Amino acid sequence: MRRCIAICLALLSFLLPITGCGSKKNSQSATIFAMDTVMDFTVYGDAGIMPQLEATVREMEARLSVTNAESEIAVWNGGGSENLSPDTADLIDRALGYCRRTDGALDITVCPLVRAWGFTTKNYRVPTADELAGLLEKVNYRNLTADGTAVRRGSAETEIDLGAIVKGELGNRLVKILRASGVQSALLNLGGNVVALGSRPDGTPWRVAITDPAGGGYAGILQVTDVSVVTSGGYERNFTQNGVTYHHILDPKTGFPVESGLLSVTVVGADGLLCDAMSTACFVMGLEKSIEQWKTYRDFEAVFLTGTGEIYLTAGLEKSFTAVDGYVGAKVTVIRA
Ligand code: ADP
Ligand code: MG
Repeated sequence: MRRCIAICLALLSFLLPITGCGSKKNSQSATIFAMDTVMDFTVYGDAGIMPQLEATVREMEARLSVTNAESEIAVWNGGGSENLSPDTADLIDRALGYCRRTDGALDITVCPLVRAWGFTTKNYRVPTADELAGLLEKVNYRNLTADGTAVRRGSAETEIDLGAIVKGELGNRLVKILRASGVQSALLNLGGNVVALGSRPDGTPWRVAITDPAGGGYAGILQVTDVSVVTSGGYERNFTQNGVTYHHILDPKTGFPVESGLLSVTVVGADGLLCDAMSTACFVMGLEKSIEQWKTYRDFEAVFLTGTGEIYLTAGLEKSFTAVDGYVGAKVTVIRA
């Protein structure tokens, strides 16, 4: 009997991190698998909020996932009605704003390219240059116009992929729900997108780690309150063929995985959607153009890890960033206005 209890406990501790829901002092935690990633929620204060958070994740996934044939996006991509729900049309409208702002480094019409490389289905393959040249003709955010709830296609072949921004918007939604129910302290990890609501219950900042793109630990720790921390990097999703590694962030101008000299970009700011859009876009644009965006708009802060092992920090993160593990002693450059 005792052995049986021990085995059950061992099994439980193995299962809990995958689909678990637990509580510690006045905190609640849950782990769910959604949007093709593992999400961890830790919430202090409101014991009953978890089901509402999970329902929001499921609703957005069902509505926006390009791989779910019944989602609004998939139906639209298949030539369905131009009229979308107000929430979806509004999200596309805001996403298009970032496509314009970044001159197409972020392009939510990359769908045919993402599919050709197999990132949609995980049947990875390397398309030929000719195939990519043909597909590039279908990729152009200027072919999309959002007008109220109508999202119009300038070309019958235009397709939408919101993969680069959807978790950012999800973070914003979850924060609204938490704030409305009076929660002042929570940490949500949406898989590469972290939302730090308020501070830790003891009043100290949340500590959010930036992954070492080379694997095996972290590159740095950010001490933050009330922000989203969103990282884009080629190490997150990729495949290797004939010794070459191909990752999932594509250059909408060439159709190939982008090579901008950066290993990852972490964007920090109050608006999760902006952070998600800009982390992908900065990864595509590279360091110099990203710095121009920062100087022009000043609505985000960022950590750039370069292919040469250097760290670039925008000035607003100078005091909150600490290099760790393999990045201790790395050259750090602070970008100033
Ligand atoms: P992740 O979703 O892995 O956290 P990102 O936010 O950077 O990373 O989004 C990458 C996803 O966005 C890809 O999986 C793909 O669906 C889509 N995508 C790839 N390249 C671009 C691009 N240049 N512009 C817009 N979306 C892109
Ligand atoms: Mg993104």
